[in-house]
Amino acid sequence: MSDDVAGFGELKIIAVGDELLEGRTADTNSGRIQRALGGHALRCGLIQVVPDTLDAIRQALDRTAPGDLVFMTGGLGSTPDDLTRDALAAWAGVPLDEDAAVRAQLEERWRRRGISVRAGVESQCQVPRGLSPLTNPVGSAPGLAGRLCGRMFVLLPGVPPELEGLLPLVLDRLHREGALPTGRATLTWRTAQIAELQLVRRCDEARAAYPSLGWSWWLSDWGVDVRVSAAPGDEHQLADVGARLDAELAHLVYTRDGRDLPTVVKDLAVARGRTIAVAESCTGGLVGGALTGVAGSSAYFRGGILSYANDVKVAQLGVPVSVLDGDGAVSEACVRAMAAGCRERLGADLAVAVSGISGPDGGTDDKPVGTTWIGVATPAGVFAGCYRFPADRTRNRLLAVAAAVDALRRVLEDGDDVSPWARRDTWCTR
Ligand code: ATP
Repeated sequence: MSDDVAGFGELKIIAVGDELLEGRTADTNSGRIQRALGGHALRCGLIQVVPDTLDAIRQALDRTAPGDLVFMTGGLGSTPDDLTRDALAAWAGVPLDEDAAVRAQLEERWRRRGISVRAGVESQCQVPRGLSPLTNPVGSAPGLAGRLCGRMFVLLPGVPPELEGLLPLVLDRLHREGALPTGRATLTWRTAQIAELQLVRRCDEARAAYPSLGWSWWLSDWGVDVRVSAAPGDEHQLADVGARLDAELAHLVYTRDGRDLPTVVKDLAVARGRTIAVAESCTGGLVGGALTGVAGSSAYFRGGILSYANDVKVAQLGVPVSVLDGDGAVSEACVRAMAAGCRERLGADLAVAVSGISGPDGGTDDKPVGTTWIGVATPAGVFAGCYRFPADRTRNRLLAVAAAVDALRRVLEDGDDVSPWARRDTWCTR
């Protein structure tokens, strides 16, 4: 087969690993690859998840075609079930060559860790002829990329952080090799506190005005993202549609530059010189976890009080016993007291408090499962909003985290005396 293919048009992904077929691990790498290639006019035509056997990998390769950009993930390690290199070499009819530079890097890596070269390392030095290695900045198995049988192949380790670490190098290589189509011009809005269908409806008018633009919506950890893309020649329409959607979505948008919500909060807090603390009940530390998951959060994050039990709310946050006896732990009065106590005791400029019924038990007619109060204390006052999240325990907790982090974002944007729920454009019910 010829390797002279001008431009690669369709993306195909082969995720290799028994664990992916046995429900032990979900294939998240395919999404990572697609997101990395997101701006390019590449259609993903097929994702195959296959077991660790030569035969299954061969059959998956048979479903690729000349002109495809083929990503393979997994099976590049040094254990006997890591067969991706062997399978590709056998399928393409090329030998495996030992790469001296890869061997030297692996030996150096083991030497630095004070251990003798691990058995099996040999297999990681093997490169199907036609491919060349990409140094893995995170782990041992190198990525591999190159043209074979009219396709462009990219082989990446299965371990997600290793794959993630290699993706920028892969994009660089693909650009240099002219293997990526010219990117489509795109705009992306990241929104919080609105359901997907509602967001789609809010885009209806702009969509009707620009029927030739491409639209897509997807759920993120923080809400829903919407992307508008223009084919070559239609780029001029993006400026106008951008202004329309900015006006339509207004405060629902936390960024147009791709950052996630906790990063936006960190950037705002640092820019405004504000410190933040959290008081959590039903979210069990997830809000603090989300905020401190961003590098550099020590510049603004003071700490948190995980007050799950009522007596901890009293002792650590100063919530009056009368509030717990009267209104209950999931109430406006309680989150107001939690937020105010947290702000004062942890010496923060702003504090957010969360108390809710995540389920599956604990709901009542008055306060069904999903009822969640969020409070925010600022130097100017204390605000509270109530949500009725519609999902199961895991999802309700994550929705509460997103709502709490977004409440901080709104206060940081609007000022201490504006309630994050003032605009009534959130899921908040009261
Ligand atoms: P290793 O050196 O660990 O053997 P590898 O490249 O051979 O790396 P695998 O052994 O296939 O990768 O996978 C290692 C781990 O990475 C798996 O146990 C799984 O937890 C995770 N993993 C593999 N493939 C995927 C995938 N498609 N999506 C998400 N996680 C994955």
